[in-house]
Amino acid sequence: MDVKVGDILEMKKPHPCGSRQFEVLRVGMDFKIKCKGCGHEVMAARAKIERNIKKVIREQDD
Ligand SMILES: [Zn+2]
Repeated sequence: MDVKVGDILEMKKPHPCGSRQFEVLRVGMDFKIKCKGCGHEVMAARAKIERNIKKVIREQDD
């Protein structure tokens, strides 16, 4: 899956605060993502995050 910094990820499972959308802050072996609802930052393995992605929302296309 092609995920870039700045993308918004819509997840299958919502964050405890209720938001399903996370902003991508860093990609690599681990992803760093930030909840759009409460601003909480999470680092997790790429494979783990990719399994939970419902769709990728990209505001600007290149
Ligand atoms: Zn949250």
